Amino acid sequence: MPIIRFEAADTDDLTAVGEGIARPAREAGALRTGTAVGKLAVFHGDGCAVCGEAVRAGDAFYLDSGAGEVLCEAHGRERRGD
Ligand SMILES: [Zn+2]
Repeated sequence: MPIIRFEAADTDDLTAVGEGIARPAREAGALRTGTAVGKLAVFHGDGCAVCGEAVRAGDAFYLDSGAGEVLCEAHGRERRGD
């Protein structure tokens, strides 16, 4: 299951994604459709699943589709082994 890195969140809650990311985002329970930022988007309004840090507009973040978790940059990098 992929752990996907996003370079910059669009808003404090949502980041628009393409079709290719829709499936892993859906598996993670984070897919939202018909949002203000785009037809398909990842919801990250609850922040990092490990430390609770908010993912704000412009922040890099990760989505672990296997675990169904959004991660902040530090914890995403750690889990992916970057
Ligand atoms: Zn974190």
